Amino acid sequence: MDQSDIREFHILFERMLRCMTDSEHFDREKFVQALEELAALFRLSKGVTEFYRTERAEKDGEGEIMIDYDLGKKDHPVLSYRILSKSKSVIISTLYMADDEKPLEEEELEKLDLILNVLVNFIARNRFEASLERLGYYDDNGYPNIRYYMRYLESLIAEEGTLSGYTAACINLRHFSAVNQEYGRKAGNLALRNYYDELADAAGNDGVVCRMGGDNLVLAFRKILTEKVMRILSGIPVICDPEGNKRVLVYASAGVFNIPKDAPAGAGDIVSRIYTAMLTAKQNPETPVVYYDEKMLSERDKEAEVNLLFPKAIENNEFKVFYQPKVDIESGRIVGAEALCRWFRGGNIVPPGDFIPVLERTSEICRLDFHMLELVCRDLRRWLDEGRQTVRVSVNLSRKHLSDADLKDHILEIIDRNKVPHQSIEIELTETGTEVGFQSLKRVAEELQENGFCVSVDDFGMGYSSLNLIREIPWNVLKIDRCFLPTDDEPESSITSRMYGHVISMAHDLGLECVTEGVETSKQVEILRKNNCRFAQGYFYDKPLSVEEFEDRLNRGNYSISK
Ligand code: C2E
Ligand code: MG
Ligand code: MG
Repeated sequence: MDQSDIREFHILFERMLRCMTDSEHFDREKFVQALEELAALFRLSKGVTEFYRTERAEKDGEGEIMIDYDLGKKDHPVLSYRILSKSKSVIISTLYMADDEKPLEEEELEKLDLILNVLVNFIARNRFEASLERLGYYDDNGYPNIRYYMRYLESLIAEEGTLSGYTAACINLRHFSAVNQEYGRKAGNLALRNYYDELADAAGNDGVVCRMGGDNLVLAFRKILTEKVMRILSGIPVICDPEGNKRVLVYASAGVFNIPKDAPAGAGDIVSRIYTAMLTAKQNPETPVVYYDEKMLSERDKEAEVNLLFPKAIENNEFKVFYQPKVDIESGRIVGAEALCRWFRGGNIVPPGDFIPVLERTSEICRLDFHMLELVCRDLRRWLDEGRQTVRVSVNLSRKHLSDADLKDHILEIIDRNKVPHQSIEIELTETGTEVGFQSLKRVAEELQENGFCVSVDDFGMGYSSLNLIREIPWNVLKIDRCFLPTDDEPESSITSRMYGHVISMAHDLGLECVTEGVETSKQVEILRKNNCRFAQGYFYDKPLSVEEFEDRLNRGNYSISK
Protein backbone atom coordinates (compact mmCIF):
# COMPACT_ATOMS: atom_id res chain seq x y z
CA MET A 1 0.00 0.00 0.00
CA ASP A 2 1.44 3.38 -0.82
CA GLN A 3 1.00 6.49 1.28
CA SER A 4 -2.10 7.66 -0.58
CA ASP A 5 -3.73 4.21 -0.24
CA ILE A 6 -3.07 4.30 3.49
CA ARG A 7 -4.51 7.80 3.74
CA GLU A 8 -7.57 6.71 1.80
CA PHE A 9 -7.93 3.64 4.03
CA HIS A 10 -7.97 5.86 7.12
CA ILE A 11 -10.58 8.18 5.66
CA LEU A 12 -12.88 5.33 4.61
CA PHE A 13 -12.40 3.38 7.82
CA GLU A 14 -13.25 6.42 9.87
CA ARG A 15 -16.30 7.11 7.73
CA MET A 16 -17.46 3.53 8.29
CA LEU A 17 -16.90 3.78 12.05
CA ARG A 18 -18.73 7.06 12.24
CA CYS A 19 -21.75 5.49 10.53
CA MET A 20 -21.67 2.59 12.97
CA THR A 21 -21.36 4.60 16.15
CA ASP A 22 -24.06 7.14 15.30
CA SER A 23 -26.76 4.68 16.24
CA GLU A 24 -29.56 7.26 16.24
CA HIS A 25 -29.08 8.31 12.65
CA PHE A 26 -27.63 5.24 11.05
CA ASP A 27 -27.17 6.11 7.38
CA ARG A 28 -27.22 2.84 5.54
CA GLU A 29 -26.38 4.32 2.16
CA LYS A 30 -23.25 6.05 3.42
CA PHE A 31 -22.24 2.92 5.28
CA VAL A 32 -22.57 0.68 2.21
CA GLN A 33 -20.75 3.21 0.09
CA ALA A 34 -17.81 3.28 2.53
CA LEU A 35 -17.72 -0.53 2.52
CA GLU A 36 -17.71 -0.68 -1.26
CA GLU A 37 -14.90 1.81 -1.52
CA LEU A 38 -12.93 -0.15 1.05
CA ALA A 39 -13.54 -3.36 -0.89
CA ALA A 40 -12.27 -1.69 -4.06
CA LEU A 41 -9.19 -0.42 -2.21
CA PHE A 42 -8.33 -3.98 -1.16
CA ARG A 43 -9.13 -5.38 -4.61
CA LEU A 44 -11.90 -7.61 -3.26
CA SER A 45 -14.33 -9.24 -5.67
CA LYS A 46 -17.03 -10.32 -3.20
CA GLY A 47 -18.05 -10.12 0.50
CA VAL A 48 -20.65 -12.46 1.96
CA THR A 49 -22.28 -12.51 5.40
CA GLU A 50 -24.09 -15.62 6.59
CA PHE A 51 -26.40 -15.60 9.56
CA TYR A 52 -27.66 -18.69 11.43
CA ARG A 53 -29.99 -18.55 14.41
CA THR A 54 -28.30 -21.56 16.06
CA GLU A 55 -25.27 -23.77 15.49
CA ARG A 56 -27.65 -26.55 14.51
CA ALA A 57 -29.15 -24.32 11.82
CA GLU A 58 -25.61 -23.66 10.61
CA LYS A 59 -24.97 -27.41 10.35
CA ASP A 60 -28.21 -27.91 8.45
CA GLY A 61 -27.41 -24.99 6.20
CA GLU A 62 -30.58 -23.15 7.21
CA GLY A 63 -29.70 -19.53 7.52
CA GLU A 64 -29.83 -16.19 5.82
CA ILE A 65 -27.11 -15.44 3.31
CA MET A 66 -26.47 -11.81 2.53
CA ILE A 67 -24.18 -10.71 -0.26
CA ASP A 68 -22.95 -7.37 0.81
CA TYR A 69 -20.63 -6.68 -2.06
CA ASP A 70 -20.39 -8.51 -5.35
CA LEU A 71 -18.36 -7.57 -8.41
CA GLY A 72 -19.37 -10.80 -10.06
CA LYS A 73 -15.96 -12.47 -10.15
CA LYS A 74 -15.51 -14.36 -6.94
CA ASP A 75 -12.49 -16.73 -7.05
CA HIS A 76 -10.80 -17.53 -3.75
CA PRO A 77 -11.47 -16.53 -0.13
CA VAL A 78 -8.83 -14.32 1.39
CA LEU A 79 -10.26 -13.84 4.84
CA SER A 80 -13.08 -15.40 6.85
CA TYR A 81 -14.55 -14.80 10.29
CA ARG A 82 -16.96 -16.94 12.27
CA ILE A 83 -18.36 -15.69 15.52
CA LEU A 84 -20.76 -17.29 17.98
CA SER A 85 -22.84 -14.56 19.62
CA LYS A 86 -24.13 -14.49 23.20
CA SER A 87 -27.56 -15.53 21.96
CA LYS A 88 -25.90 -18.60 20.33
CA SER A 89 -26.45 -17.36 16.81
CA VAL A 90 -23.64 -17.75 14.28
CA ILE A 91 -22.31 -15.07 11.95
CA ILE A 92 -19.80 -15.85 9.23
CA SER A 93 -18.23 -13.19 7.05
CA THR A 94 -16.02 -14.13 4.09
CA LEU A 95 -14.08 -11.94 1.67
CA TYR A 96 -13.09 -13.12 -1.80
CA MET A 97 -10.55 -11.99 -4.34
CA ALA A 98 -10.40 -12.72 -8.07
CA ASP A 99 -7.48 -14.96 -9.16
CA ASP A 100 -6.11 -12.38 -11.57
CA GLU A 101 -5.79 -9.68 -8.88
CA LYS A 102 -2.50 -8.85 -7.18
CA PRO A 103 -2.46 -10.86 -3.87
CA LEU A 104 -2.83 -8.95 -0.60
CA GLU A 105 0.34 -7.77 1.17
CA GLU A 106 0.95 -8.51 4.84
CA GLU A 107 0.07 -4.93 5.82
CA GLU A 108 -3.12 -5.00 3.75
CA LEU A 109 -4.21 -8.29 5.31
CA GLU A 110 -3.73 -6.82 8.80
CA LYS A 111 -5.87 -3.81 7.95
CA LEU A 112 -8.54 -5.96 6.33
CA ASP A 113 -8.53 -8.22 9.36
CA LEU A 114 -9.24 -5.18 11.52
CA ILE A 115 -12.11 -4.02 9.30
CA LEU A 116 -13.72 -7.43 9.19
CA ASN A 117 -13.39 -7.86 12.93
CA VAL A 118 -15.16 -4.56 13.59
CA LEU A 119 -17.78 -5.29 10.98
CA VAL A 120 -18.72 -8.74 12.22
CA ASN A 121 -19.06 -7.49 15.77
CA PHE A 122 -21.27 -4.67 14.58
CA ILE A 123 -23.51 -7.10 12.69
CA ALA A 124 -23.63 -9.41 15.72
CA ARG A 125 -24.76 -6.57 17.93
CA ASN A 126 -27.43 -5.46 15.46
CA ARG A 127 -28.69 -8.99 15.11
CA PHE A 128 -28.74 -9.39 18.87
CA GLU A 129 -30.83 -6.24 19.19
CA ALA A 130 -33.20 -7.49 16.51
CA SER A 131 -33.58 -10.79 18.41
CA LEU A 132 -34.29 -8.89 21.59
CA GLU A 133 -36.88 -6.82 19.75
CA ARG A 134 -38.45 -9.99 18.38
CA LEU A 135 -38.50 -11.71 21.76
CA GLY A 136 -39.74 -8.69 23.67
CA TYR A 137 -42.20 -7.10 21.28
CA TYR A 138 -43.64 -9.94 19.20
CA ASP A 139 -45.39 -13.17 20.10
CA ASP A 140 -44.53 -16.66 18.83
CA ASN A 141 -46.70 -16.20 15.76
CA GLY A 142 -45.07 -12.96 14.76
CA TYR A 143 -47.87 -10.64 15.91
CA PRO A 144 -46.74 -7.48 17.70
CA ASN A 145 -47.64 -7.93 21.37
CA ILE A 146 -48.98 -5.75 24.17
CA ARG A 147 -45.51 -4.38 24.99
CA TYR A 148 -45.26 -3.23 21.39
CA TYR A 149 -48.65 -1.54 21.79
CA MET A 150 -47.64 0.22 24.99
CA ARG A 151 -44.39 1.42 23.43
CA TYR A 152 -46.28 2.61 20.36
CA LEU A 153 -48.69 4.66 22.46
CA GLU A 154 -45.87 6.07 24.58
CA SER A 155 -43.99 7.16 21.49
CA LEU A 156 -47.13 8.81 20.07
CA ILE A 157 -47.60 10.65 23.36
CA ALA A 158 -43.96 11.76 23.28
CA GLU A 159 -44.24 12.95 19.67
CA GLU A 160 -47.68 14.55 19.66
CA GLY A 161 -48.06 15.44 23.34
CA THR A 162 -51.61 13.98 23.35
CA LEU A 163 -53.50 11.01 21.99
CA SER A 164 -56.63 13.03 21.43
CA GLY A 165 -56.55 12.44 17.69
CA TYR A 166 -56.78 8.71 18.28
CA THR A 167 -59.25 6.01 19.19
CA ALA A 168 -58.01 2.99 21.13
CA ALA A 169 -59.83 -0.33 21.25
CA CYS A 170 -59.51 -3.73 22.82
CA ILE A 171 -61.36 -6.58 21.17
CA ASN A 172 -62.21 -10.18 21.84
CA LEU A 173 -63.25 -12.33 18.91
CA ARG A 174 -66.66 -13.75 19.66
CA HIS A 175 -67.11 -17.51 19.58
CA PHE A 176 -63.66 -17.89 18.12
CA SER A 177 -63.11 -21.15 20.00
CA ALA A 178 -66.08 -22.47 18.01
CA VAL A 179 -64.20 -21.66 14.79
CA ASN A 180 -61.23 -23.66 16.12
CA GLN A 181 -63.48 -26.52 17.15
CA GLU A 182 -65.43 -26.65 13.93
CA TYR A 183 -62.72 -26.04 11.37
CA GLY A 184 -59.55 -26.96 13.28
CA ARG A 185 -56.74 -24.91 14.81
CA LYS A 186 -54.97 -24.31 11.51
CA ALA A 187 -58.08 -22.77 9.99
CA GLY A 188 -58.55 -20.74 13.19
CA ASN A 189 -55.01 -19.39 12.92
CA LEU A 190 -55.51 -18.50 9.29
CA ALA A 191 -58.82 -16.77 10.01
CA LEU A 192 -57.15 -14.79 12.81
CA ARG A 193 -54.29 -13.80 10.50
CA ASN A 194 -56.69 -12.61 7.79
CA TYR A 195 -58.87 -10.77 10.27
CA TYR A 196 -55.78 -9.15 11.76
CA ASP A 197 -54.63 -8.05 8.29
CA GLU A 198 -58.04 -6.50 7.55
CA LEU A 199 -57.92 -4.58 10.82
CA ALA A 200 -54.31 -3.48 10.31
CA ASP A 201 -55.27 -2.27 6.86
CA ALA A 202 -58.21 -0.29 8.24
CA ALA A 203 -56.10 1.16 11.07
CA GLY A 204 -53.82 2.65 8.41
CA ASN A 205 -50.16 3.61 8.41
CA ASP A 206 -50.28 5.67 11.57
CA GLY A 207 -52.32 3.09 13.47
CA VAL A 208 -51.39 -0.17 15.07
CA VAL A 209 -52.96 -3.57 15.80
CA CYS A 210 -51.36 -5.89 18.36
CA ARG A 211 -52.29 -9.25 19.80
CA MET A 212 -52.80 -9.44 23.52
CA GLY A 213 -52.84 -13.22 23.62
CA GLY A 214 -55.46 -15.76 22.51
CA ASP A 215 -58.20 -14.08 20.53
CA ASN A 216 -57.71 -10.65 22.06
CA LEU A 217 -56.39 -7.74 20.03
CA VAL A 218 -55.66 -4.12 20.88
CA LEU A 219 -55.62 -1.34 18.37
CA ALA A 220 -55.11 2.38 18.00
CA PHE A 221 -56.06 4.41 14.95
CA ARG A 222 -56.79 7.95 13.87
CA LYS A 223 -60.33 9.03 14.76
CA ILE A 224 -61.25 9.67 11.13
CA LEU A 225 -60.81 5.95 10.45
CA THR A 226 -63.34 4.94 13.11
CA GLU A 227 -66.12 4.05 10.71
CA LYS A 228 -63.84 1.84 8.64
CA VAL A 229 -62.60 -0.04 11.70
CA MET A 230 -66.09 -0.39 13.18
CA ARG A 231 -67.33 -2.04 10.02
CA ILE A 232 -64.77 -4.79 10.55
CA LEU A 233 -65.54 -5.13 14.25
CA SER A 234 -69.23 -5.64 13.54
CA GLY A 235 -68.42 -8.76 11.54
CA ILE A 236 -66.74 -9.66 8.27
CA PRO A 237 -66.22 -12.95 6.45
CA VAL A 238 -62.58 -14.05 6.34
CA ILE A 239 -60.91 -16.86 4.47
CA CYS A 240 -59.85 -19.78 6.67
CA ASP A 241 -58.27 -22.29 4.27
CA PRO A 242 -55.09 -22.02 2.21
CA GLU A 243 -57.02 -22.56 -1.06
CA GLY A 244 -59.31 -19.63 -0.28
CA ASN A 245 -62.54 -21.63 -0.61
CA LYS A 246 -63.90 -21.49 2.92
CA ARG A 247 -64.94 -18.36 4.76
CA VAL A 248 -66.02 -17.84 8.35
CA LEU A 249 -67.79 -14.87 9.84
CA VAL A 250 -65.59 -13.23 12.44
CA TYR A 251 -66.94 -10.55 14.72
CA ALA A 252 -65.83 -8.94 17.90
CA SER A 253 -66.80 -7.74 21.32
CA ALA A 254 -65.03 -4.42 21.57
CA GLY A 255 -64.20 -1.86 24.21
CA VAL A 256 -63.60 1.46 22.48
CA PHE A 257 -62.10 4.65 23.90
CA ASN A 258 -62.33 7.86 21.88
CA ILE A 259 -59.41 9.49 23.62
CA PRO A 260 -60.37 13.02 24.72
CA LYS A 261 -57.99 15.98 25.11
CA ASP A 262 -57.95 15.75 28.89
CA ALA A 263 -57.44 11.96 29.03
CA PRO A 264 -54.88 10.63 31.47
CA ALA A 265 -51.64 10.54 29.59
CA GLY A 266 -50.08 7.11 30.22
CA ALA A 267 -50.37 4.12 27.90
CA GLY A 268 -51.28 1.99 30.96
CA ASP A 269 -54.33 4.20 31.62
CA ILE A 270 -55.52 3.76 28.05
CA VAL A 271 -55.10 -0.02 28.15
CA SER A 272 -56.94 -0.41 31.44
CA ARG A 273 -59.84 1.65 30.06
CA ILE A 274 -60.28 -0.26 26.82
CA TYR A 275 -59.87 -3.58 28.62
CA THR A 276 -62.58 -2.70 31.13
CA ALA A 277 -64.94 -1.65 28.32
CA MET A 278 -64.16 -4.86 26.41
CA LEU A 279 -65.06 -7.00 29.44
CA THR A 280 -68.40 -5.23 29.64
CA ALA A 281 -68.99 -5.82 25.93
CA LYS A 282 -68.06 -9.48 26.29
CA GLN A 283 -70.51 -10.06 29.10
CA ASN A 284 -73.35 -8.66 27.09
CA PRO A 285 -73.92 -10.12 23.62
CA GLU A 286 -76.49 -7.42 22.85
CA THR A 287 -73.89 -4.67 23.03
CA PRO A 288 -70.90 -5.93 21.05
CA VAL A 289 -69.31 -2.47 21.09
CA VAL A 290 -69.04 -0.63 24.39
CA TYR A 291 -67.64 2.91 24.50
CA TYR A 292 -65.61 3.58 27.58
CA ASP A 293 -66.82 6.18 30.01
CA GLU A 294 -65.45 7.11 33.40
CA LYS A 295 -68.33 5.39 35.23
CA MET A 296 -66.87 2.07 34.16
CA LEU A 297 -63.73 2.48 36.18
CA SER A 298 -65.76 3.17 39.28
CA GLU A 299 -67.83 0.05 38.47
CA ARG A 300 -64.62 -1.91 38.24
CA ASP A 301 -63.48 -0.50 41.56
CA LYS A 302 -66.82 -1.47 43.10
CA GLU A 303 -66.36 -4.97 41.77
CA ALA A 304 -62.88 -5.17 43.26
CA GLU A 305 -64.34 -3.94 46.56
CA VAL A 306 -67.01 -6.66 46.58
CA ASN A 307 -64.37 -9.33 46.01
CA LEU A 308 -62.19 -7.87 48.71
CA LEU A 309 -64.93 -7.53 51.33
CA PHE A 310 -66.77 -10.77 50.62
CA PRO A 311 -64.75 -13.28 52.73
CA LYS A 312 -64.91 -11.08 55.85
CA ALA A 313 -68.57 -10.23 55.22
CA ILE A 314 -69.54 -13.89 55.18
CA GLU A 315 -67.58 -14.50 58.41
CA ASN A 316 -69.25 -11.48 60.04
CA ASN A 317 -72.72 -12.73 59.09
CA GLU A 318 -73.50 -9.70 56.97
CA PHE A 319 -75.57 -11.81 54.51
CA LYS A 320 -79.16 -12.34 55.57
CA VAL A 321 -82.06 -14.29 54.12
CA PHE A 322 -85.19 -12.48 53.01
CA TYR A 323 -88.28 -14.54 52.26
CA GLN A 324 -90.73 -13.75 49.51
CA PRO A 325 -94.02 -15.64 49.83
CA LYS A 326 -95.43 -17.78 47.04
CA VAL A 327 -99.19 -17.63 47.16
CA ASP A 328 -102.11 -19.81 46.04
CA ILE A 329 -104.22 -17.16 44.32
CA GLU A 330 -107.47 -19.07 44.87
CA SER A 331 -107.21 -19.40 48.65
CA GLY A 332 -104.69 -16.67 49.47
CA ARG A 333 -102.67 -19.33 51.30
CA ILE A 334 -98.88 -19.06 51.51
CA VAL A 335 -97.65 -22.23 49.85
CA GLY A 336 -93.97 -21.52 49.92
CA ALA A 337 -91.30 -18.86 49.96
CA GLU A 338 -88.20 -18.01 48.01
CA ALA A 339 -85.04 -17.26 49.98
CA LEU A 340 -83.37 -14.16 48.57
CA CYS A 341 -80.04 -12.84 49.72
CA ARG A 342 -79.47 -9.35 51.17
CA TRP A 343 -76.12 -7.93 52.21
CA PHE A 344 -76.19 -5.67 55.28
CA ARG A 345 -73.18 -3.47 54.83
CA GLY A 346 -72.42 -0.41 56.94
CA GLY A 347 -76.07 0.28 57.73
CA ASN A 348 -77.25 -0.20 54.11
CA ILE A 349 -78.89 -3.12 52.38
CA VAL A 350 -77.08 -4.06 49.21
CA PRO A 351 -79.42 -5.71 46.66
CA PRO A 352 -78.27 -8.98 45.02
CA GLY A 353 -77.90 -7.35 41.61
CA ASP A 354 -74.91 -5.43 43.00
CA PHE A 355 -72.91 -8.41 44.20
CA ILE A 356 -74.26 -11.69 42.79
CA PRO A 357 -73.03 -11.10 39.21
CA VAL A 358 -69.63 -10.12 40.66
CA LEU A 359 -69.39 -13.26 42.80
CA GLU A 360 -70.50 -15.33 39.82
CA ARG A 361 -67.45 -14.21 37.92
CA THR A 362 -65.09 -15.62 40.54
CA SER A 363 -67.25 -18.62 41.57
CA GLU A 364 -67.41 -17.28 45.13
CA ILE A 365 -71.18 -17.40 44.57
CA CYS A 366 -71.05 -21.12 45.45
CA ARG A 367 -69.85 -20.27 48.92
CA LEU A 368 -72.64 -17.75 49.32
CA ASP A 369 -75.30 -20.20 48.10
CA PHE A 370 -74.23 -22.83 50.64
CA HIS A 371 -74.22 -20.16 53.32
CA MET A 372 -77.79 -19.18 52.36
CA LEU A 373 -78.88 -22.82 52.41
CA GLU A 374 -77.36 -23.14 55.88
CA LEU A 375 -79.27 -20.07 57.12
CA VAL A 376 -82.54 -21.30 55.59
CA CYS A 377 -82.07 -24.72 57.22
CA ARG A 378 -81.46 -23.10 60.59
CA ASP A 379 -84.67 -21.04 60.25
CA LEU A 380 -86.68 -24.11 59.19
CA ARG A 381 -85.26 -26.13 62.06
CA ARG A 382 -86.12 -23.39 64.53
CA TRP A 383 -89.69 -23.04 63.17
CA LEU A 384 -90.14 -26.82 63.48
CA ASP A 385 -88.73 -26.81 67.01
CA GLU A 386 -91.04 -23.97 67.98
CA GLY A 387 -93.98 -25.93 66.61
CA ARG A 388 -94.80 -23.35 63.94
CA GLN A 389 -96.31 -24.18 60.65
CA THR A 390 -93.63 -24.16 57.96
CA VAL A 391 -93.72 -23.82 54.19
CA ARG A 392 -91.43 -25.18 51.55
CA VAL A 393 -88.55 -22.76 51.02
CA SER A 394 -86.77 -22.48 47.72
CA VAL A 395 -83.10 -21.64 47.53
CA ASN A 396 -81.36 -20.31 44.43
CA LEU A 397 -78.33 -22.19 43.17
CA SER A 398 -76.07 -20.48 40.67
CA ARG A 399 -75.11 -22.22 37.43
CA LYS A 400 -71.58 -22.19 38.73
CA HIS A 401 -72.41 -25.22 40.87
CA LEU A 402 -73.10 -27.38 37.87
CA SER A 403 -69.51 -28.46 37.41
CA ASP A 404 -69.25 -29.51 41.08
CA ALA A 405 -69.36 -33.31 41.06
CA ASP A 406 -70.01 -33.38 44.83
CA LEU A 407 -72.83 -30.84 44.81
CA LYS A 408 -75.50 -33.29 45.99
CA ASP A 409 -73.34 -34.46 48.95
CA HIS A 410 -72.61 -30.90 49.92
CA ILE A 411 -76.33 -30.01 49.92
CA LEU A 412 -77.26 -33.19 51.80
CA GLU A 413 -74.61 -32.53 54.42
CA ILE A 414 -76.07 -29.08 55.22
CA ILE A 415 -79.71 -30.19 55.22
CA ASP A 416 -79.19 -33.42 57.16
CA ARG A 417 -76.93 -31.82 59.75
CA ASN A 418 -79.78 -29.39 60.48
CA LYS A 419 -82.26 -32.28 60.45
CA VAL A 420 -84.53 -30.57 57.95
CA PRO A 421 -87.02 -32.78 56.07
CA HIS A 422 -86.04 -32.93 52.41
CA GLN A 423 -89.53 -32.04 51.22
CA SER A 424 -89.19 -28.64 52.93
CA ILE A 425 -86.49 -27.59 50.49
CA GLU A 426 -86.88 -26.59 46.89
CA ILE A 427 -83.89 -25.85 44.69
CA GLU A 428 -84.19 -23.21 41.96
CA LEU A 429 -81.89 -23.67 39.01
CA THR A 430 -81.58 -21.55 35.88
CA GLU A 431 -81.15 -22.66 32.32
CA THR A 432 -77.77 -22.70 30.60
CA GLY A 433 -76.76 -21.98 27.06
CA THR A 434 -74.33 -24.80 26.42
CA GLU A 435 -74.68 -28.50 25.75
CA VAL A 436 -72.24 -29.35 28.56
CA GLY A 437 -74.22 -27.11 30.89
CA PHE A 438 -77.44 -28.81 29.84
CA GLN A 439 -76.09 -32.28 30.64
CA SER A 440 -74.83 -31.12 34.05
CA LEU A 441 -78.16 -29.45 34.78
CA LYS A 442 -79.94 -32.72 33.98
CA ARG A 443 -77.61 -34.70 36.27
CA VAL A 444 -78.00 -32.23 39.16
CA ALA A 445 -81.81 -32.03 38.84
CA GLU A 446 -82.13 -35.82 38.78
CA GLU A 447 -79.82 -36.34 41.75
CA LEU A 448 -81.69 -33.78 43.82
CA GLN A 449 -85.05 -35.32 42.99
CA GLU A 450 -83.82 -38.80 43.85
CA ASN A 451 -83.11 -37.39 47.29
CA GLY A 452 -86.60 -36.06 47.74
CA PHE A 453 -86.04 -32.39 46.95
CA CYS A 454 -88.33 -30.36 44.79
CA VAL A 455 -86.53 -28.87 41.78
CA SER A 456 -87.67 -25.81 39.86
CA VAL A 457 -86.53 -24.10 36.71
CA ASP A 458 -86.15 -20.42 37.51
CA ASP A 459 -86.74 -17.48 35.16
CA PHE A 460 -88.27 -19.68 32.48
CA GLY A 461 -88.69 -17.69 29.30
CA MET A 462 -85.59 -15.58 29.78
CA GLY A 463 -82.31 -16.33 28.09
CA TYR A 464 -81.82 -19.80 26.81
CA SER A 465 -85.26 -21.42 27.23
CA SER A 466 -85.67 -24.40 25.03
CA LEU A 467 -88.40 -26.98 24.78
CA ASN A 468 -85.72 -29.60 25.28
CA LEU A 469 -85.17 -28.20 28.73
CA ILE A 470 -88.63 -29.25 29.85
CA ARG A 471 -88.74 -32.43 27.79
CA GLU A 472 -85.43 -33.87 28.99
CA ILE A 473 -85.29 -32.75 32.60
CA PRO A 474 -87.89 -33.93 35.11
CA TRP A 475 -88.64 -30.61 36.84
CA ASN A 476 -91.26 -30.29 39.56
CA VAL A 477 -91.92 -26.59 39.16
CA LEU A 478 -91.74 -24.13 36.30
CA LYS A 479 -91.16 -20.57 37.47
CA ILE A 480 -92.31 -18.34 34.66
CA ASP A 481 -90.24 -15.20 34.38
CA ARG A 482 -92.06 -11.93 34.64
CA CYS A 483 -91.07 -11.02 31.09
CA PHE A 484 -93.69 -13.62 30.01
CA LEU A 485 -96.41 -12.18 32.20
CA PRO A 486 -98.55 -9.70 30.26
CA THR A 487 -98.64 -6.19 31.67
CA ASP A 488 -101.91 -4.52 32.64
CA ASP A 489 -102.36 -2.74 29.32
CA GLU A 490 -101.32 -5.71 27.20
CA PRO A 491 -104.16 -6.86 24.87
CA GLU A 492 -105.19 -10.48 25.12
CA SER A 493 -104.31 -10.94 21.47
CA SER A 494 -100.66 -9.91 21.94
CA ILE A 495 -97.94 -12.50 21.39
CA THR A 496 -96.91 -12.33 25.07
CA SER A 497 -100.47 -12.90 26.26
CA ARG A 498 -100.98 -15.85 23.95
CA MET A 499 -97.61 -17.43 24.68
CA TYR A 500 -98.16 -17.06 28.40
CA GLY A 501 -101.36 -19.11 28.17
CA HIS A 502 -99.76 -21.77 26.01
CA VAL A 503 -96.70 -22.13 28.25
CA ILE A 504 -98.92 -22.75 31.25
CA SER A 505 -101.12 -25.32 29.57
CA MET A 506 -98.05 -27.10 28.20
CA ALA A 507 -96.49 -27.18 31.69
CA HIS A 508 -99.70 -28.55 33.18
CA ASP A 509 -99.94 -31.16 30.43
CA LEU A 510 -96.49 -32.33 31.43
CA GLY A 511 -97.46 -32.49 35.10
CA LEU A 512 -95.44 -29.46 36.18
CA GLU A 513 -96.51 -27.01 38.84
CA CYS A 514 -96.44 -23.38 37.58
CA VAL A 515 -95.50 -20.27 39.51
CA THR A 516 -95.59 -16.87 37.87
CA GLU A 517 -92.98 -14.42 39.13
CA GLY A 518 -93.30 -10.66 39.35
CA VAL A 519 -97.06 -10.40 39.87
CA GLU A 520 -97.64 -6.76 40.77
CA THR A 521 -101.29 -5.92 40.13
CA SER A 522 -104.77 -7.36 40.70
CA LYS A 523 -105.25 -7.32 36.94
CA GLN A 524 -102.26 -9.61 36.60
CA VAL A 525 -103.73 -11.93 39.25
CA GLU A 526 -106.81 -12.03 37.01
CA ILE A 527 -104.63 -13.01 34.06
CA LEU A 528 -103.14 -15.86 36.13
CA ARG A 529 -106.61 -17.03 37.06
CA LYS A 530 -107.82 -16.96 33.46
CA ASN A 531 -104.84 -18.97 32.36
CA ASN A 532 -105.08 -21.48 35.20
CA CYS A 533 -101.80 -20.53 36.84
CA ARG A 534 -102.55 -21.12 40.46
CA PHE A 535 -99.39 -19.87 42.12
CA ALA A 536 -97.95 -16.38 42.19
CA GLN A 537 -94.96 -14.60 43.63
CA GLY A 538 -94.70 -10.85 43.49
CA TYR A 539 -95.02 -7.42 45.00
CA PHE A 540 -98.81 -7.63 44.73
CA TYR A 541 -98.64 -9.95 47.73
CA ASP A 542 -95.35 -9.02 49.32
CA LYS A 543 -91.82 -7.90 48.61
CA PRO A 544 -89.08 -10.13 50.00
CA LEU A 545 -89.45 -9.91 53.81
CA SER A 546 -86.95 -10.06 56.64
CA VAL A 547 -87.20 -13.23 58.74
CA GLU A 548 -89.16 -11.42 61.47
CA GLU A 549 -91.58 -9.91 58.95
CA PHE A 550 -92.01 -13.26 57.26
CA GLU A 551 -92.74 -15.03 60.56
CA ASP A 552 -95.27 -12.35 61.28
CA ARG A 553 -96.79 -12.85 57.84
CA LEU A 554 -97.06 -16.61 58.45
CA ASN A 555 -98.77 -15.94 61.77
CA ARG A 556 -101.34 -13.69 60.14
CA GLY A 557 -102.50 -16.53 57.87
CA ASN A 558 -103.90 -16.23 54.36
CA TYR A 559 -103.87 -13.16 52.14
CA SER A 560 -107.26 -11.78 51.44
CA ILE A 561 -108.30 -13.01 48.01
CA SER A 562 -110.05 -9.80 47.10
CA LYS A 563 -106.83 -7.87 47.74
P1 C2E B 1 -84.87 -14.54 41.11
O1 C2E B 1 -84.42 -15.81 41.69
O2 C2E B 1 -85.66 -14.61 39.84
O3 C2E B 1 -85.68 -13.81 42.23
C1 C2E B 1 -86.79 -13.02 42.00
C2 C2E B 1 -86.43 -11.58 41.94
O4 C2E B 1 -87.56 -10.85 41.51
C3 C2E B 1 -86.07 -11.03 43.32
O5 C2E B 1 -85.15 -9.98 43.13
C4 C2E B 1 -87.37 -10.41 43.76
O6 C2E B 1 -87.22 -9.41 44.72
C5 C2E B 1 -87.88 -9.85 42.45
N1 C2E B 1 -89.32 -9.67 42.47
C6 C2E B 1 -90.22 -10.42 43.12
N2 C2E B 1 -91.45 -9.96 42.91
C7 C2E B 1 -91.35 -8.91 42.09
C8 C2E B 1 -92.29 -8.01 41.49
O7 C2E B 1 -93.50 -8.10 41.67
N3 C2E B 1 -91.80 -7.05 40.68
C9 C2E B 1 -90.49 -6.93 40.45
N4 C2E B 1 -90.06 -5.93 39.65
N5 C2E B 1 -89.54 -7.74 40.99
C10 C2E B 1 -89.99 -8.73 41.79
P2 C2E B 1 -83.85 -9.92 44.01
O8 C2E B 1 -84.14 -10.34 45.39
O9 C2E B 1 -83.28 -8.58 43.76
O10 C2E B 1 -82.98 -11.02 43.36
C11 C2E B 1 -82.53 -10.91 42.07
C12 C2E B 1 -81.86 -12.15 41.62
O11 C2E B 1 -80.68 -12.38 42.35
C13 C2E B 1 -82.70 -13.41 41.86
O12 C2E B 1 -83.64 -13.55 40.85
C14 C2E B 1 -81.64 -14.47 41.83
O13 C2E B 1 -81.31 -14.79 40.50
C15 C2E B 1 -80.48 -13.75 42.44
N6 C2E B 1 -80.34 -14.16 43.84
C16 C2E B 1 -80.90 -13.63 44.94
N7 C2E B 1 -80.48 -14.30 46.05
C17 C2E B 1 -79.66 -15.28 45.60
C18 C2E B 1 -78.88 -16.32 46.24
O14 C2E B 1 -78.89 -16.52 47.44
N8 C2E B 1 -78.12 -17.13 45.43
C19 C2E B 1 -78.10 -16.98 44.09
N9 C2E B 1 -77.35 -17.80 43.37
N10 C2E B 1 -78.80 -16.01 43.46
C20 C2E B 1 -79.58 -15.19 44.21
MG1 MG C 1 -85.13 -17.57 42.03
MG1 MG D 1 -86.76 -15.88 39.08
